[in-house]
Amino acid sequence: MDTNNLYSTQICDMMNIGIVVLDKDFKIHYWNRWLELHSGIMPASIVGSNLFDFFPNLNNPKFIRNCKSLFTFGNYYFLSQKLHHFIFPFKPVSASEFQFEHMQQSGSIFPIRNDKNEIQYICIAVHDVTELVAYEQKLIEMTKRDVLTDIYNRRYLEERMKDEFEKHTRYCRTLSLIVLDLDHFKGINDTCGHQYGDYILKSIVAVVKPCLRTVDVFARYGGEEFCCLLPETDIEAATRVAERLKDAVAAQEYFFQNTLIKVTISLGVAEACESTRTIDALFKNADDALYEAKKNGRNRVVVAKG
Ligand code: GH3
Ligand code: MG
Ligand code: MG
Repeated sequence: MDTNNLYSTQICDMMNIGIVVLDKDFKIHYWNRWLELHSGIMPASIVGSNLFDFFPNLNNPKFIRNCKSLFTFGNYYFLSQKLHHFIFPFKPVSASEFQFEHMQQSGSIFPIRNDKNEIQYICIAVHDVTELVAYEQKLIEMTKRDVLTDIYNRRYLEERMKDEFEKHTRYCRTLSLIVLDLDHFKGINDTCGHQYGDYILKSIVAVVKPCLRTVDVFARYGGEEFCCLLPETDIEAATRVAERLKDAVAAQEYFFQNTLIKVTISLGVAEACESTRTIDALFKNADDALYEAKKNGRNRVVVAKG
């Protein structure tokens, strides 16, 4: 960079982005204050050195090819956080971003021409986008969750059902589904109030969740109906899980104004098989089995007929 250019040097040092200027041999000619702050490397220590001596992660064929093409064609290159996550391996800045090992960065590389209009340098400009990425991830997570119980919602269940059903049809992986519904829940709401009903829904979730594996998808389908999607699980194993859930819920004691409240669930279990060619068919089988469980007296598991 032209060190006589008083304005540009000061502006570059005050900007909230990282700016590094390189020549054809990847020798560093300028290292702005933002980069100094986040790397802890003073310009005096790095200017004149090869970029890869300090940042070996950039010494890869793709980065080198892109930089070389800039010198040849004078084009512009965008480095997306979605692809690279970071350019320079710096630490995140604030505690709310510590879920990331590295500061998430987007950047661009562009040519700098001399007064003969020749490309003499390239400049890498780096933006810290960690906060944005953290918000984005939080929003994505929120779209998957049920507000009351914080387990997965119906939208996420349907997405995962599609994925798991695809694995089942393509690779013959076993897949089972449990549909469960609270028994006489309307009565609990009517007797104890809606708020107590909400408390029961959250309590049931707290009982059921530890009985499942982390690979299982436990979701609130709607109201007082829940689904457990069990990948790599055949009907026998899924039935054992369903029995365990039924027993765990029935064993839990709930009190409303010192009166013991009986809470039970009914469950329908189905396995994806020859006759269930669609997700809807699998779901219908489990739902029909649940209906049977209700009809046969509740607090029970019914297995769908193949
Ligand atoms: P069954 O054993 O046949 O399933 O009877 P049920 O009373 O559980 O079923 P029904 O469909 O008659 O009633 C379901 C009740 O669940 C009615 C509805 O108000 C209640 N419900 C649905 N969502 C919520 C919720 O988010 N909170 C509370 N407290 N109640 C809910
Ligand atoms: Mg019910
Ligand atoms: Mg119901």
